[in-house]
Amino acid sequence: MAEAAPSPSLPQSAAKPLSAPQKALRKLGLVRAIDLALHLPLRYEDETRITRLADAREGESVQIEGTVTGCEVVQRPRRQLLVTLDDGSATCTLRFFSFYPSHQKTLSVGARIRARGELRGGLLGWTMMHPSFRVASGELPDALTPVYPTSAGLPQAYLRRAVQAALQRADLSDTVPPEALAECPGLRLPGQGCPWSLREALQFLHHPAPDVPLAALEDRSHPAWQRLKAEELLAQQLSQYRAKQERAGLRAPALPSRPGGLHEQLLAALPFPLTAAQRRVGEEIARDLARTVPMHRLLQGDVGSGKTVVAALAAAVAIDAGWQCALMAPTEILAEQHFAKLVGWLQPLLEPLGQEVAWLTGSQKKKDRAEMLARIETGRAALVVGTHAVIQEQVRFHKLALAIIDEQHRFGVAQRLALREKMQGTGLEPHLLMMSATPIPRTLAMSYYADLDVSTIDELPPGRTPIVTKLLADSRRDELIERLRRQVAEGRQVYWVCPLIEDSEALDLSNATATHAELSAAMDGLVGADGSPVLVGLLHSRMPPAEKKAVMALFSQGVMGVLVSTTVIEVGVDVPNASLMVIEHAERFGLSQLHQLRGRVGRGTAASVCLLLYSPDENGRVSPTARERLRAMVETNDGFEIARRDLDIRGPGEFLGARQSGSPLLRFADLATDSHLLEWAREWAPRVLDQWPDLAHKHLDRWLGGKSDYLKA
Ligand code: ADP
Ligand code: MG
Repeated sequence: MAEAAPSPSLPQSAAKPLSAPQKALRKLGLVRAIDLALHLPLRYEDETRITRLADAREGESVQIEGTVTGCEVVQRPRRQLLVTLDDGSATCTLRFFSFYPSHQKTLSVGARIRARGELRGGLLGWTMMHPSFRVASGELPDALTPVYPTSAGLPQAYLRRAVQAALQRADLSDTVPPEALAECPGLRLPGQGCPWSLREALQFLHHPAPDVPLAALEDRSHPAWQRLKAEELLAQQLSQYRAKQERAGLRAPALPSRPGGLHEQLLAALPFPLTAAQRRVGEEIARDLARTVPMHRLLQGDVGSGKTVVAALAAAVAIDAGWQCALMAPTEILAEQHFAKLVGWLQPLLEPLGQEVAWLTGSQKKKDRAEMLARIETGRAALVVGTHAVIQEQVRFHKLALAIIDEQHRFGVAQRLALREKMQGTGLEPHLLMMSATPIPRTLAMSYYADLDVSTIDELPPGRTPIVTKLLADSRRDELIERLRRQVAEGRQVYWVCPLIEDSEALDLSNATATHAELSAAMDGLVGADGSPVLVGLLHSRMPPAEKKAVMALFSQGVMGVLVSTTVIEVGVDVPNASLMVIEHAERFGLSQLHQLRGRVGRGTAASVCLLLYSPDENGRVSPTARERLRAMVETNDGFEIARRDLDIRGPGEFLGARQSGSPLLRFADLATDSHLLEWAREWAPRVLDQWPDLAHKHLDRWLGGKSDYLKA
């Protein structure tokens, strides 16, 4: 650290242009001194001791110090710089294939040098390939040298100085109350009574003493790491708890369930009794709706568990109380299906009241749309079902009280905010019910989703037969198609899903159009159980909505035997007679996507099968993660288990999807290993916020900066 360095601190005024490393710092989000102080090393290098060559072992990473006795550029077989270093006990050759004149100057004969690298033995004695080196001067450092995560244009040495300066400058006073720390597991070193301060923990992690067991630093089990993880988790929980508290201060219309009301009428009219799980979550939702605090609830249940009817019952409560309800789905097909179902269930009850279920989508004719908008504005449309169109500006609700979002992970924060704004001017917020078929593993629910109340449907309607899942190499495709012919002739309906709609040069995937042609040819002349010819349909996202709708209608009426499609049918589509699902190039799909697709079958009483066709690469291999996904599919039908394995395979980043875009992921804590700290943070966040609000705010600002707004939607 002795050499003169440009100041790593960032200029505050806009007048001075940023240097390249300063720009790189910004890009990494290292703006404030505290950001740099919290930028922790990936690993460490031990420059604290010198190893005598005579005592060294082959393969060891060591630092040696000696005098240069030779320095020459040779051409055998490649141009290279060979430097001989003599430490008095033996000599070592330093070998460089890329080097600058400055190297030769520093490493000239007679210079005293420290070099670090891996020692290799050989016929000619010790060698180090491309060691790091410096002129031997001054004392050896008394701490390990940190190696930070960095990026192009940001040299490690610059970053080290920047972090070091920031550690001096930043306010590192403790923001976690001692009472909370005292109960935090894992913070104590053996034999020490008191956990460290944040400053001590950071000093230690940036510059640990050389006698620290490296394993405890690397697996982050060391108390100093535990402290940082605990701080981070506390910040996350505080921000979620605060969002929840802020919501508790808002008001929503109270929607009590009335005996004999629409809700009970709908229950009586349903063609099936609710499952116990549906009844339970229905009651949880009804309790929320009856309160004046806006509901913020996630309804999760595996594909086919019957979430739609629970949503319809919630809508009935809202309508019965004299308010409107909106239901939004991510795709037109899905919205259409909801609409059909909800019209069937609710329209007969609404009509006598002069009300109706309305339909709103982007592809509607202008005239129809204008008509719908008018009915929504007057309140005649008691329930509005649709796509994103529901939240567009022109849509003015008369009295919106409940917003239901299906497949919530497909929607972002902005869309949820837009829904809430539909009540602006009234001083009220709508109740929010989000639905998802991708269950959230417990650790995620406790951390990222802690601001949500969660209701879970953990039971399928009776009479479902479990889906049998099988893997099949694409080389056996002809065999499969032959089997399909027989089954379709018996009246079974088949989904065949392809990953892309057109050939892409980069990915040699067979496409839906080609498969459609292939299957059409294979089914040519085939007659179904009812004596009519078997139709093979095609569905992909670039088709005009009217055509999609027509194809979907033919399939759900049972007129069409095979539906070839891209993943547009992934979510929510419900055709109980379909009992065979073929997924082509299954190795290309994500795990939860595969599970969603599989959930399209097994909805009726027929025994259902899901066939995963996979294509090994030219070496006959399927990637290890793809294999893990396929194995998980064969081994379990349980959505929770699938979600848990998906989390293992992908990590939380991708799992969270649109919900978390732009909001901070956990950097240090790992939900798989740190649940003890998560439990602690969950328990303490409310107490800290209530009893030490100033500390809580300082803590949030330190850890999340301006980013915590995202968590409020
Ligand atoms: P998902 O939870 O995947 O959205 P759906 O709401 O589409 O599931 O329901 C799947 C199918 O099960 C639908 O055909 C629905 O009408 C039917 N269903 C829902 N609840 C029950 C029940 N309690 N008994 C029998 N069938 C039900
Ligand atoms: Mg659904």
